[in-house]
Amino acid sequence: AFRAILISRGEDKSQRVERVTLSAEDLMDGDVDVAVEASTVNYKDGLAITGKAPVVRRWPMIPGVDFAGTVIASRNSKWREGDKVILNGWGTGETHLGAYATRARVKGEWLVRLPDAFTPHEAMAIGTAGYTAMMAVIALERHGLTPADGPALVTGAAGGVGSVAVALLARLGWHVVASTGRASEEGDYLRGLGAAEIIERSELGGEGKPLMKERWAAGIDAVGGRTLANALASTRYHGAIAACGLAQSMDLPATVAPFILRGVSLLGIDSVMAPLARREEAWTRLAADLDRDTLAAMTRTIGFSQVEEVARAIVEGQVRGRVVVDMARD
Ligand code: NAP
Repeated sequence: AFRAILISRGEDKSQRVERVTLSAEDLMDGDVDVAVEASTVNYKDGLAITGKAPVVRRWPMIPGVDFAGTVIASRNSKWREGDKVILNGWGTGETHLGAYATRARVKGEWLVRLPDAFTPHEAMAIGTAGYTAMMAVIALERHGLTPADGPALVTGAAGGVGSVAVALLARLGWHVVASTGRASEEGDYLRGLGAAEIIERSELGGEGKPLMKERWAAGIDAVGGRTLANALASTRYHGAIAACGLAQSMDLPATVAPFILRGVSLLGIDSVMAPLARREEAWTRLAADLDRDTLAAMTRTIGFSQVEEVARAIVEGQVRGRVVVDMARD
């Protein structure tokens, strides 16, 4: 038997979240069984648990889109008992029973080997949010951008994707402009992660113009909406913004002006269905480029019983940095 968080849905579509004990027969098909040691609370997990967006597409569901742990049984030739693994995405916690459980059964091809550099706890301090931030940095680099081209903007900077993005870009030598709605509370925190400048969320969050003063060469955007439109309109010639989130809005009320008049590019980042080679590249880069102390400074650890409360807080924009769920803790 193992413990899990289960979301079920009533006929009126209302959601119930419970802590339950399940048995191995309750798990879905897969060829690798994993003892889950750590998970995390991402924005998407908040959406799933609150029901604010239709993340869950199978009922009942164990939410949680990512975990780290140890293989306890494998019918897949790539994995053996005792292997340390990470899983991000592939529908885990959406269509396939997810991470908020002490046991998971998944497809071997979804798993990435835990880099030696990280404990399961550190891998989940990074989590989907941090690994997505790394993918965004790689996308900007692949576009040919370097710190010599100018500053880099990070929006939603005090959140999970934002915090890791600030830390990575600063460590790689970028002049980081951090946009946050919590400048007074989190200014010191963001400077501690490496932000060189802090701007108010409202500077980019309202109505703008098709083209505005050029301010940055690159950007990582976790919030979408008008913020992304204005970030693009303020990007230097031939710069790029990597879009990975929608914390403000799913809309993009932009014009083509930055694209056709300044050669600006919009780079899309998807972590959920990213191919294995891209995942391995991101984890290798995280091992090389993310400072362990900075990671620790942006992370707090909770137990199983606090997941629901933190999930509700994250969709309200009240969580700072990253939250690890220690599966052994109550
Ligand atoms: P998070 O920790 O909640 O961070 C989001 C941050 O956005 C908040 O901390 C807040 O930062 C800012 N924000 C919140 N509400 C806002 C609003 N109404 N207007 C402007 N800014 C607002 O969440 P996360 O886990 O980092 O995820 C961030 C986003 O990336 C989410 O939309 C998530 O779904 C997406 N995501 C996408 C992928 C992918 O594969 N593409 C992977 C991971 C995450 P400040 O307080 O600093 O302003």
